[in-house]
Amino acid sequence: MRSPSDYISQRARGVDASGIRKVFDLAAKMKDPINLSIGLPDFDVPELVKTAAIDAIKTGNNRYTQTQGIAPLRERLRRDLSAETGRDVGDVLITSGVSGGLLLAILATIDPGDEAIFLDPYFVMYKHLLTMAGGKPVAVDSYPDFRFHADRVERAITPKTKLLILNSPSNPTGVVMSEAEVNAAVDLARKHGLLILSDEIYEPFLYDSRGTGFQPVQSAQHGLETRATGKLPSAARTYENTLILRGFSKSHAMTGWRLGYAAGPDAVVSQMAKLQQYTFVCAPSPLQYAALAACDVGMSGAVASYQRKRDIAFDSLSKKFEVVRPEGAFYIFPKAPAGQSATDFVARAIDNNVLIIPGNVFSERDTHFRISYATTDDKLAQGCEILCKLAK
Ligand code: PMP
Repeated sequence: MRSPSDYISQRARGVDASGIRKVFDLAAKMKDPINLSIGLPDFDVPELVKTAAIDAIKTGNNRYTQTQGIAPLRERLRRDLSAETGRDVGDVLITSGVSGGLLLAILATIDPGDEAIFLDPYFVMYKHLLTMAGGKPVAVDSYPDFRFHADRVERAITPKTKLLILNSPSNPTGVVMSEAEVNAAVDLARKHGLLILSDEIYEPFLYDSRGTGFQPVQSAQHGLETRATGKLPSAARTYENTLILRGFSKSHAMTGWRLGYAAGPDAVVSQMAKLQQYTFVCAPSPLQYAALAACDVGMSGAVASYQRKRDIAFDSLSKKFEVVRPEGAFYIFPKAPAGQSATDFVARAIDNNVLIIPGNVFSERDTHFRISYATTDDKLAQGCEILCKLAK
């Protein structure tokens, strides 16, 4: 007789989620923690977007859509992205979150043994999706500044390398690639024939001289609104073999609505659409109509408040920790105090009611920890103060 665990595939066994599980187990014991672990906005979906979703449901937009997504949304996103990048970005596929886009992109491009490069620290899903697809994740160390070091990346390229995955603004470091870094990545991709997969889910969350992330525009539907400024340096501006992945989870606080999009070379996007047909079928139908409304809803207030939270976190933590000043997203990634692993430091933080994530969840190293500053100013200040005390 087989035991149920005998049925588990090598594919599932190959994915190790023990790091994050340990943190959640510890967190489950906490009462009303100062939670600095969550990767989602602390504001709610804008009213106008909620209304659009409800209207779409009430008017009967509840059936499957075309697998590619509804035409007006695809056209709108293609137009906006093309205007932003200065070239036609290619076909657009509406996906079930950027996670859905990542899975389909990897399934569409990675054969067993193919390699994909990304910077360490990394968004966890890259490693696991590549493993699931039989590919080889190749994490290139970017410590201590978390910048794109072209020489290190080039050393990791082999004849098997197919993808270069970029994530800017970055989860977990908040680092935003400069134009020079993006150009260096594009040069490498051209030289070695790589497809760039550009995960730009945090695109609106850009701070300081990079702009507020949104600028006023005249919208036919809603009068004067705001829209992404398009200030993010993106490989899509100059390199046609770029697949852009963006979504609404972070920009409009719709993490539970599962809406993202992919734009890039038709040959790749059409294969992703084919695979979507046999997996997700389509992104949630009424919410695609709501996403169309979201395209005209500015979030500049939210972006400004995150910049303030970034300042609160950085100003406090930089007094006691070695830490890179984030320029985007809503994460900061300080180094644990000397002589302590990140896991040990996080355990102490949790003992003191502050929930943070150890760096080894996002990295081959266990030296740093991730804070999400997407919480109230008060909780953030309190949490940082406690961490600073623990750093002594
Ligand atoms: N990419 C990055 C870098 C992320 O941080 C996340 C979410 N945490 C995603 C992709 C996936 O987002 P979603 O599936 O909600 O669109």
